Amino acid sequence: MRRFRFIRDPLAIDIGNNVEEFLRELGGPACIFLDGKDTSRTRALVTLQHGNEPSGVMALFRWLKSSRQPAVNVVCIVASVAAALEPPLFSHRMLPRARDLNRCYKPPFEDAQGKLAEEILEILHMHHPEAVVDLHNTSGSGPSFGVCTHMDRQHDALVSIFTQRLIVSNLGLGALMEISEHSYPTVTVEVGGREDAEAHELAFEGMCRYFEADAVLAQGETDWGLELLRDPIRLELNDNISLTYAEGIREDYDITLKPDIEHHNFGGVTPDTALGWARGPERRLFAAQDAGGRCAVTRLVRIEDGILYPAQPLKLFMITNNASIASSDCLFYAVADDGSAICI
Ligand SMILES: [Zn+2]
Repeated sequence: MRRFRFIRDPLAIDIGNNVEEFLRELGGPACIFLDGKDTSRTRALVTLQHGNEPSGVMALFRWLKSSRQPAVNVVCIVASVAAALEPPLFSHRMLPRARDLNRCYKPPFEDAQGKLAEEILEILHMHHPEAVVDLHNTSGSGPSFGVCTHMDRQHDALVSIFTQRLIVSNLGLGALMEISEHSYPTVTVEVGGREDAEAHELAFEGMCRYFEADAVLAQGETDWGLELLRDPIRLELNDNISLTYAEGIREDYDITLKPDIEHHNFGGVTPDTALGWARGPERRLFAAQDAGGRCAVTRLVRIEDGILYPAQPLKLFMITNNASIASSDCLFYAVADDGSAICI
């Protein structure tokens, strides 16, 4: 069974009149190859790994409609087309019961999502791109940032095409960017909230720079002036702990978080910043591990008189205000307030 649809240099008139028609035209995971002015090199763009993150595919549609030619070959992978098309449009991160595709880039590649991830890796391998950019949206509103597994000037250069903030994190979750370790410079770019016009615009502008620049990798020792956030720790919920978001305490839940908690995204919080309400002890409710595998819960949060506070000055990001994401993924990521890793 061939799951991927392969398309080469599609004409603007053949891709539908809007993004939804474009996705219906693709019908499933698709690989769109664009011939560059210089055909000796290839870059890769991956997007729509999550069906509810539209900015990347909207930008690609807009690019294809503009009938431009990239500087070098570009192989574009549009992954979770079926999840995106599941009504209402762009509402499903993945199809029901499917694994998160961006956790599937490590063996075993057994289920359908694993096989899709494996095919994406094979397509990349076949084209051997000089760089890979994986475009995402955050679930809540917020600023853009890049993520890579380790710091080097190539990752800096790639991220700076899109944004000025870089998270360095290697949690070994099976994300696509982890191939950077042994394959091609690969970065994740989160262009901002899935419903934000600014995010759609940034995806398009960044894509134009990525496709049209002669060089996207570092040519020497350039300081891109990126804001670095190193080795963030994820605050997760323990099993069977209930969580809700409300303006005041909800006694029927273990944890109530303030609905505006996402306003702290990338800002500093102090030990007096009330995040919500909870009944301790902290370790019964939450799980968190630092890079060394040690429990970090009490370095992140403390509960005093039923109120949940940061345990120390921290910078929080990827804060969700969606209880199902908080349960299935995490509540937020944290680094020390100067961007460095949280130490013991
Ligand atoms: Zn995503």
